[in-house]
Amino acid sequence: MNAKMLWQYARLVVEVGINVQKGQPIMVNCPVDCAPFGRMLATAAYDAGAKDVIINWRDDYCMRERGLKADGSVFDAVYPWEALKLNSLAKEGVGVISVSASDPENMKGVDPDRLRRSRLAAGRDLKDFYRAQMSNGIPWCVVSVPIASWAKKVFPGMNEADAMEKLWDEIFKAVRITEDGDAVAEWRAHCARIEGYAKKMTEFDFEELHYKNSLGTDLTVKMPENNNWLAGGDMCKSGVKFVANMPTEEVFSAPLRNGVDGVLVASKPLVLSGNVVEGIRFRFKEGRIVEIHSDTNEEALRTQVELDEGSHYLGEIALVPYDSPISNSGILFFNTLFDENASCHFAFGEAYPACIKGGDDLSPEELKEAGINAESNTHVDFMVGTSDLEITGKTRDGRLVKVFENGNFAI
Ligand code: ZN
Ligand code: ZN
Repeated sequence: MNAKMLWQYARLVVEVGINVQKGQPIMVNCPVDCAPFGRMLATAAYDAGAKDVIINWRDDYCMRERGLKADGSVFDAVYPWEALKLNSLAKEGVGVISVSASDPENMKGVDPDRLRRSRLAAGRDLKDFYRAQMSNGIPWCVVSVPIASWAKKVFPGMNEADAMEKLWDEIFKAVRITEDGDAVAEWRAHCARIEGYAKKMTEFDFEELHYKNSLGTDLTVKMPENNNWLAGGDMCKSGVKFVANMPTEEVFSAPLRNGVDGVLVASKPLVLSGNVVEGIRFRFKEGRIVEIHSDTNEEALRTQVELDEGSHYLGEIALVPYDSPISNSGILFFNTLFDENASCHFAFGEAYPACIKGGDDLSPEELKEAGINAESNTHVDFMVGTSDLEITGKTRDGRLVKVFENGNFAI
């Protein structure tokens, strides 16, 4: 890793990811192990005109100790001062940068019920904050930099220094940063290209999509009327563009809540609140997950799927070609930000309102009426793409269209 590239990265996150506006407060969630990058983000944000930069330092070690040893009552509520901080910052239009870097197995052995309760408490006590985030009320951006425990999991055969260096290289590649390149220009071109696929998908106005591959996936997904496919950049209600995930390769929408039937088999392990879940297999009936299976950590998976009523239903359908940059690296990142952008995926839990045309301005009740999964305290992406995935679409006027063939776009 070189400092010049790291500065380029910090500026990219601030200028393209959040697109910081003059006078805007910025919040940075950052692991202590990535402090140098967190500091660069702060400088870049102030330089871009941020009114203030609020840093929330996180630490795997303390999170794990808390999970194991804290008094049980702390998992049932968010501290009032913390809720006030986040909810009031959301009202002020805060831009939120989250640096995602964690030991994939950090919470192994922690009682899943504690994780479940703290997720429910966050959903309830930080409702205003999460709603603003889900409905593009505020800009947000998730990015990653390596930490040792994570790098060692991705490259187990290497010593720590080499594993860190290799993960840096792969992350820079994924976010299109090169020593002499112009990452901002690269990102504009990349977003325009995937937004083209989103536009095509929206214009087809599919009534349903049928998924099939040799892993055993055989799934019909109905789409709501007025469904909107999105990719690349998002648009805040204030009209400011931002990019919520860096990297991003996906073209996504939300399925009809009650319109999913069949079997869906995951193609990659999923890191779920500090546990690695392998071999996921779901069966759906009228949208609801009626069978849950995984080869490892099934209890952790079950806990999340059964979190609330909405977590039993899909909230996102996302297309990523098998032949795309992160997928072609052949690396399993054990971090959803990267693995979801290497593979077609779905998410169970709450849908993004913008997946319905004009959805950002609709109430949860109106979104429900529009047919998407509008209410859940969770949203968990899991990967299903393979080299032999076939997706056939049926338009509302009855035409059959090959959307994916051999794992790649056929439109
Ligand atoms: Zn996604
Ligand atoms: Zn998602």
